[in-house]
Amino acid sequence: MTRPLVADIDLDAFRHNYALARAQAPGSRALAVIKADGYGHGAVACARALEGLPDGERPPAFAVACLEEAERLREGGIRTPILLLEGIFEAAELERVEALSLWMAVHSDWQVEALLAYRPARPIPVWLKVDSGMHRLGFAPAAVPAVWARLAAAPGQATDLHLMSHLATADEADTRACCDQLARMQALADRLQAPLCLANSPATLAWPEAHGAWVRPGVMLYGSDPLEVPNAASQGLQPVMTLRSAIIAVRDIAPGEAVGYGRRWQATRPSRIATVAGGYGDGYDRHAADGTPTLVAGRRAPLAGKVSMDMLTVDITDIPEAEIGTEVVLWGRATNGAVLSIDEVAHHCDTISYTLLTGVLPRVPRRYSCQV
Ligand SMILES: *Cc1c(COP(=O)(O)O)cnc(C)c1O
Repeated sequence: MTRPLVADIDLDAFRHNYALARAQAPGSRALAVIKADGYGHGAVACARALEGLPDGERPPAFAVACLEEAERLREGGIRTPILLLEGIFEAAELERVEALSLWMAVHSDWQVEALLAYRPARPIPVWLKVDSGMHRLGFAPAAVPAVWARLAAAPGQATDLHLMSHLATADEADTRACCDQLARMQALADRLQAPLCLANSPATLAWPEAHGAWVRPGVMLYGSDPLEVPNAASQGLQPVMTLRSAIIAVRDIAPGEAVGYGRRWQATRPSRIATVAGGYGDGYDRHAADGTPTLVAGRRAPLAGKVSMDMLTVDITDIPEAEIGTEVVLWGRATNGAVLSIDEVAHHCDTISYTLLTGVLPRVPRRYSCQV
């Protein structure tokens, strides 16, 4: 038997989640964020799945973090426009931006200077990034009208100007900080008569006022619920990745015996322990606490003991039918249909779904549900 750990990627679920994002923001266009190799799912496969949708259901654009990610999509045959969310990292990249027909964010003066000094054959679509309160990237709102005017006055270099900004707290139930950010952006968009793009996944799901001309959902497309307080829409998301493995050994231990490094988990009753292929060398988080749920034969069973590099251990005392070869789902959907949400696993690891998904390492084979 080959090592049983695989990441099963359900591209139909990915399409379902994209359709759900569109349905949540019917007045907006929905750019699909597939940076970080499609949040660990394989960006080319994800992009093909959406590019293969019928007219009118397909994303008008994808978004990635950098030129190298866009290059890989183009090499994979993806023809849809691609937005570089952080634009260029050096002026020399402009040639490739042009050659690959990319759209670029512009967040800094040096990027504006580089673009205005460049002579493209066709102007480059530009999304002007505004720092509306997160203080990470973008122009201060007061500086935006002047930068906008410079770009608008350079039709040979920049075209199709948009305003974009990022929300720091869209996932939280308390919307006050978000409202401040939206008010600043709305004022700019009104003044400049500019199309606005503000909404990440949580705002796409829960905050229609922020939808603007474009939404740009990311993590929700992969089936993770980004909301602090889930709503009806977020509960309709379907998991895309199932991290699936199997039991490779089983043993019975007596009360007082301990399992794994540091003897962290100790049996309080006669216990059956399953050893599962999968560990932090695969990207399963070593911070997972005792009690982190798994699905063994589609039934919940708690992690017992520290995660090792290649293995982890689960208490299967209450699942007597479990044996060597039994399916173990670390997150996603079990063969019997039971779902273990990655958000719940992330909570037990004191992290977020994003780090678990982007952390699945190359050693884990990706297996796609349908060929697209
Ligand atoms: C990653 C990213 C997104 C998507 O965010 P999610 O929380 O995954 O929906 C949107 N906008 C920008 C600028 C990003 O970097």
